[in-house]
Amino acid sequence: MFKRVFVAGLSALLLAGASSVALAQTVDAQLGDRMKGHITYLASDELEGRDTGSAGHILAAEYVERHYAEFGLKPLGNAEGSSWRQPITFANITTTGGTMRVGDQTFTQGQHAALYSTVIGEQAFDAEMVFVGHGVVAPTEGIDDYAGLDVRGKVVVVLYDMPQGLPSELSAHIQSSKATTAAERGAIGVLTLLPAQARPAPWAYLMTFLGEPQMKWTDAQGRPQSDAKGLQFEGYLSTPMSDALFAGAPMSAQEVQTKGAAERVQGFALPGRMSGTISTSAELIESPNVVGVLEGSDPELKNEYVVVLGHLDHEGVDPEQEGDDKIFNGAMDNASGIATMIEVARELSKNPPKRSVIFLAVTAEEKGLLGSSYFAANPTVPLQNIVAAVNLDMPILTYAFEDLVAFGAEHSTLGVVVKAATEAVGVGLTPDPTPEEAFFVRSDHYEFVKAGVPSVYLDPGPAGPGAAASADFLENHYHKVSDEVTLPIDWNAAARFAVVNTSIARTIADGERPLWYADSPFASPDRPTAQRPAN
Ligand SMILES: [Zn+2]
Repeated sequence: MFKRVFVAGLSALLLAGASSVALAQTVDAQLGDRMKGHITYLASDELEGRDTGSAGHILAAEYVERHYAEFGLKPLGNAEGSSWRQPITFANITTTGGTMRVGDQTFTQGQHAALYSTVIGEQAFDAEMVFVGHGVVAPTEGIDDYAGLDVRGKVVVVLYDMPQGLPSELSAHIQSSKATTAAERGAIGVLTLLPAQARPAPWAYLMTFLGEPQMKWTDAQGRPQSDAKGLQFEGYLSTPMSDALFAGAPMSAQEVQTKGAAERVQGFALPGRMSGTISTSAELIESPNVVGVLEGSDPELKNEYVVVLGHLDHEGVDPEQEGDDKIFNGAMDNASGIATMIEVARELSKNPPKRSVIFLAVTAEEKGLLGSSYFAANPTVPLQNIVAAVNLDMPILTYAFEDLVAFGAEHSTLGVVVKAATEAVGVGLTPDPTPEEAFFVRSDHYEFVKAGVPSVYLDPGPAGPGAAASADFLENHYHKVSDEVTLPIDWNAAARFAVVNTSIARTIADGERPLWYADSPFASPDRPTAQRPAN
């Protein structure tokens, strides 16, 4: 599970809407033992936290490949089918310097702003600036903060906050794609005003996380890529620099930050220009996705693909970590998801469904969903033939779950499929209990959603012991060295989670092609849609 710069604080997990369905039975004890074997190995100290580009990650990749081969899957790391691995070169980019001049004031990278760029080397810029409010464009909600504003060739200044009242998944999606929205309208830079409550925070403290290097995958020409194509830079602004940009404007920076926390704010052109330079350097890292395919049993439908994916990477080793344990083993994040993927592959391979199923163990999820982004941009089968994606990320398997949460299910006909598949194994579905955590945009299925593929991902739910167990994990073990096999993992729950996901993957692979609902903000213009059934 990807850690965003500002992960919303944990609020009390809600039980509202939890359905009490009679619980599935104990499943095959051997399945639980196999799950234990996978998680114990993948989360062992020997694999050193499976960091992107590390030897431990390659050991994990070899483990997955051995299972793919054992189940009779075929390699699909390339279109020719000659390798399990899809090689990717990543650039870990550090901003090494920069200055920004506004009026007669000069601001410095690291001291007044945290700038990022996907361009390696030094660049100069000199442009007008436009404040675009929250920077939201949401046609399904009738919102266009760019209406009447010309940002072509200019630097966009945007509020970090989101307006109130948007559906949670749409809000999280829009917030994470503000730079892309600006880039699509021709902006050359995007500068973010931090939330009003960050005003008193010391900049040195903010830089401890705003100043981190950013990793991007590179294209065939070695150029780092992001969704926000054509931007020279993005960045976050300190309070003094925010105030300087708004000097002489209709509202001050503080006014728009304060007002923007509660309601929409109309954008306006800012009075001055910004000129300056930004310099970056990059370290190149190689790390592969691991891809196998189970050929479908139907002569026609085998040319369509369901992707079952999970991230194989985790956070690696931090020598500066306090205490003796420096290894982020990632037992729940995401050895548990990969173990589930392996067991889904084993079960489906015994009796292949009609469509082919791609098993995709992605890398660099923890760096910002990069391995999945790379695969979605460079799929080894035609993207239009990928009918659905099912993601497995950080199922918390420390309790006997009584329900499941299906993120993204309501946006497509996959919701009906998931409901049927989970009911078939006697587990109920519960609406997202923590929309403020924005899990929908924090894992790899999101890259498939953005590429137009109907997608879903399931987590064990909050019913019964779930809310307390999830809260305990997220507070005390998430992205900590204690996310390891010493957690009180319920191996029967682990086995049941594999059974549920096998049922989902099989039902999708055998059923009608999944379609986005026409009213979903995630519906792709490149794909047919379905009308949402009335009820
Ligand atoms: Zn994570």
